[in-house]
Amino acid sequence: MSEGRSTIFVTGGAGFIGSAVVRHLLGNTDVSIVNIDKLTYASSLESIPQAAAHPARYALARIDICDGDALRDLFARYNPKGVIHLAAETHVDRSIDGPQEFIRTNITGTFTLLQEALRHWRALTPSERKLFRLLHVSTDEVFGSLGPDGAFTEQSPYAPNSPYSASKAASDHLVRAWCETYELPCLISNCSNNYGPYQFPEKLIPHMIIKALADEPLPVYGDGRQVRDWLHVEDHARALWTILRHGRVGETYNVGGRNERTNLAVVETVCRLLDRLQPSGQGDRSRLISFVADRPGHDRRYAIDAGKLERELGWTAQENFDSGLDKTVGWYLANRPWWETILNSGYDTKRLGLSAVASPAARRPD
Ligand code: NAD
Repeated sequence: MSEGRSTIFVTGGAGFIGSAVVRHLLGNTDVSIVNIDKLTYASSLESIPQAAAHPARYALARIDICDGDALRDLFARYNPKGVIHLAAETHVDRSIDGPQEFIRTNITGTFTLLQEALRHWRALTPSERKLFRLLHVSTDEVFGSLGPDGAFTEQSPYAPNSPYSASKAASDHLVRAWCETYELPCLISNCSNNYGPYQFPEKLIPHMIIKALADEPLPVYGDGRQVRDWLHVEDHARALWTILRHGRVGETYNVGGRNERTNLAVVETVCRLLDRLQPSGQGDRSRLISFVADRPGHDRRYAIDAGKLERELGWTAQENFDSGLDKTVGWYLANRPWWETILNSGYDTKRLGLSAVASPAARRPD
């Protein structure tokens, strides 16, 4: 990586959203990027096809964010102007079966990153200190579950219900405390469910696409009436870059696209799109939908009020859910090698997240 440009650290840059951030920065800015990623099962370096064309602007640091010494070396070597922190364990069902890794990466990892960012920031000149920013990327799941009306705002109280959301809530609180107590210039974003290209096959939309293409049952949790508020991952990447540059230090910004859908409606739409783009010959894919045991502690409804981000920083979502989902299904059809490589590497599609209940009845991810 060459000297002289501004360098941004992106943690978790080989994951779903992190890779969209890296692609956005490579394609739309001239900053240099250090992708700090441990390369867990959820990562794919194939999600950044542009990387090879940018050897002077992109570097991968295969590092665990719990490794303070390694982070310290990176801060000293690259002198970043900002950090976008996305590295995390993210799959709710896995957090139910094995919460330990979520506590380690999401809480201890964030703590370690904050400590090393603070050490770096304190050694900067006063003018450099004014410019430095750390953006912590979080989820609307920290706010718990909504009733039929209303939306989460930046004032919503924290009420996490899963080990995943509890670990993210803890990390949000650490970031806030490091900003208030040590004056490390931090910002926090809380975003709704993302969808789009390069999403790991265990998440709802790619899972349903891949199962439907294989003519296998499409397991819908509970009654399928849980509501999620969907945002295209590239809109999220633009939002994060906007918040890092223009957000006010110490503030939280909610990010969402005002696209509420029940899980069942999402699965039905995936079926319709596949029937149109690649008819099966066996009949409509909706015949594959099967209702299975609900996730323990499953939140009923999430909805995000992104008004603050829109009013104060001028960001708006560019993709609407119908056209975005159409493009996403098309992407999975056109990019089979990307997800087939993951499936062939031993990824197991069995149902996770039922260890909290006495007698697991059915299997399926979300
Ligand atoms: P992901 O699971 O696709 O990717 C996570 C990345 O972090 C992977 O590349 C993984 O290798 C890396 N990682 C995990 N543990 C690490 C460690 N100890 N050290 C270094 N790297 C490590 O996640 P995602 O869906 O892209 O989410 C990114 C962030 O955005 C997360 O913090 C998540 O909580 C947040 N978020 C996600 C969504 C969503 O819908 N996916 C919505 C809102 C917020």
